[in-house]
Amino acid sequence: MSLSTRRSEELFSQAQQVIPGGVNSPVRAFKAVGGTPRFIARAQGAYLWDADGNQLLDYLGSWGPMILGHSHPAVVAAIEQALLEGLSYGAPTEREVRLAEQVREAYPMADLVRFVSSGTEATMSALRLARGYTGRDLIVKFRGNYHGHADSLLVQAGSGLLTGAGGTARSAPSSAGVPQAFAELTLVADYNDPEGLESLFQRYGEQIAAVIFEPVVGNAGVLVPTRAFLEALHRLTRQYGALLIADEVMTGFRLARGGAVELLGLQPDLICWGKIIGGGLPVGAYGGRAEVMQQIAPLGPVYQAGTLSGNPLAMAAGLATLKTLFQNPPYAQLEAYGAALEQGLQALFAEAGVPVAINRVGSMITVFFHEGPVQTYAEAVASDTKRFKVFFHGLLERGVYWPPSQFEAAFFSAAHSQADLERTLAVVEQAMREL
Ligand code: PMP
Repeated sequence: MSLSTRRSEELFSQAQQVIPGGVNSPVRAFKAVGGTPRFIARAQGAYLWDADGNQLLDYLGSWGPMILGHSHPAVVAAIEQALLEGLSYGAPTEREVRLAEQVREAYPMADLVRFVSSGTEATMSALRLARGYTGRDLIVKFRGNYHGHADSLLVQAGSGLLTGAGGTARSAPSSAGVPQAFAELTLVADYNDPEGLESLFQRYGEQIAAVIFEPVVGNAGVLVPTRAFLEALHRLTRQYGALLIADEVMTGFRLARGGAVELLGLQPDLICWGKIIGGGLPVGAYGGRAEVMQQIAPLGPVYQAGTLSGNPLAMAAGLATLKTLFQNPPYAQLEAYGAALEQGLQALFAEAGVPVAINRVGSMITVFFHEGPVQTYAEAVASDTKRFKVFFHGLLERGVYWPPSQFEAAFFSAAHSQADLERTLAVVEQAMREL
């Protein structure tokens, strides 16, 4: 029954001759699940086509950006228009102003917004800014949260680091090449553990520049924050004069127009974005209160720059994506698809007697092969990754492309239809016989 993978195998073997591990981002190598990564030739709507011509129903969505589906006509048209006007100038453009205005419309607390080229750059720059603004050195992050690959954030990090794609997840730092001295400036706390955070602040509070967190975690699989945890984050950062940084790279413009900040009623000092604000092209951004953001060069002493920052094509793709999202909000439709997917999966697993915990917020979902609820990182990593592997390959062989790791969120888009939902559930039902 399996689909042909001959061309992907050929390409993967050629890739390994010229690219480390054959991939430009570790999770793509299928290390956690085994088998040959599918080389993708093109994409449209909810579907990918691989190099062997197989059509795959896509639950990766490029790890988040493709909320409108692939090759949305408004985004393609905006890029085409920008393409005719030149690729990069190294000087300011109107599109940057318009995109910053759109971001601020969705996130009114972001007085000023600075564009960069990736989520990693956004979080790295936001941390530098927080340190510059507070004059303090320590930062706090949560075990299993991932904020990109800047040195001080590769400490007990999630995503690919949880699948053994570099270093080990349980030691700090989680990558070779990160000096211990850097790692020592990063304090690690447990997500959804308000008491743990409180005792960290009691000990180090006066030295903490910022707490950075995923407001809904995607990078340990989906974890949902408790009210008590969110309350402690706000209270402690305020009490000790540290900045609260919401990393909305994954959740921004996905969970609601104003992301997790709007959905959960958060009041962070700084927000980081990526993925959707670039519409599939390389963009990141960070923003916040004017008083803090004015510390960035050229206004202030915190340096941050980029040759391709605010790139015209990337701005055009981001603008078209946000405008489409604002004019025709897909959030109710995504919630309906998600709720039906979640209920359908729950019913199938219950019937088959396979214990799972399904965590979902809007269009981000993880099926943990774990008995009992998964609220914490420790519960997430206790999942049965062998079962996940069988589930993953069972789906892929039947043309449904689920993220190739237990510790990632699956994403769906406004292009996913009722027929796609039914197809997914039918495929899961068949795949389950192998579990
Ligand atoms: N923060 C979060 C929450 C992310 O999910 C990611 C990427 N998955 C990043 C930061 C880093 O973004 P990028 O890969 O664009 O550098």
